[in-house]
Amino acid sequence: MRKIILAGNWKMYKTQAEALEFLEGFKPTVEDAPENREVVLCVPFTALSALSKNLHGSRIRLGAQNIHWEEAGAYTGEISGPMLTEIGVRYVIIGHSERRQYFGETDETVNLRLKAAQKYGLIPILCVGETKEQRAANETESHILGQLEKDLVGIDQTKLVIAYEPIWAIGTGETCESDEANRVIGLIRSKLDNKNVTIQYGGSVKPDNIDELMAKPEIDGVLVGGASLTPDSWGKIVNYR
Ligand code: PGA
Repeated sequence: MRKIILAGNWKMYKTQAEALEFLEGFKPTVEDAPENREVVLCVPFTALSALSKNLHGSRIRLGAQNIHWEEAGAYTGEISGPMLTEIGVRYVIIGHSERRQYFGETDETVNLRLKAAQKYGLIPILCVGETKEQRAANETESHILGQLEKDLVGIDQTKLVIAYEPIWAIGTGETCESDEANRVIGLIRSKLDNKNVTIQYGGSVKPDNIDELMAKPEIDGVLVGGASLTPDSWGKIVNYR
């Protein structure tokens, strides 16, 4: 049985005060969601500590949005594994397309960050996905499989989550057809040694398409940006049918 994981990616949204206000609205909704769903919020570093205290005893798990590969050192602007685990973080997004696109993240640094996450006991959520141009050029499969091949060198596949996020579907309102998301995720799974890895879909997931996506056999959860920012829409997503 694969674990169902519904993760919100807040990106660079919400101050600590706004994050706490969100929880007031959201916490009651999540307590009713079926037990077998893991609900994760990947929030900005500055909100982690306050949310960790507030979520004590709750079923909501905390996630960060990046991690450096060293334990400590002269790496201005970076955050290490021990800094995250100390405050109760369980998950960390690695290799999001925005990091790859705007911050020079490569498959090599993604691999180092994945290794660090596992070393310090965090579950990495590895993001892969193709651009619109790659899709048009029929390079979707080769691009994603190329990413996986490099990103997963030396990685323990029993402590890993993968998110398939077609870049053209992120923040655009243009969701990937559920059949197509299911097909690509099935392809990703076929290349893994461990067939039980939770593989999420991400890209314009909303309350009105969550049921259809989650009904697909290969889709084990979602990674959600915009629609995870309000208690109402995120509550509807975690309580999908
Ligand atoms: P979106 O973002 O749901 O706003 O499209 C998804 C993501 O970037 O993880």
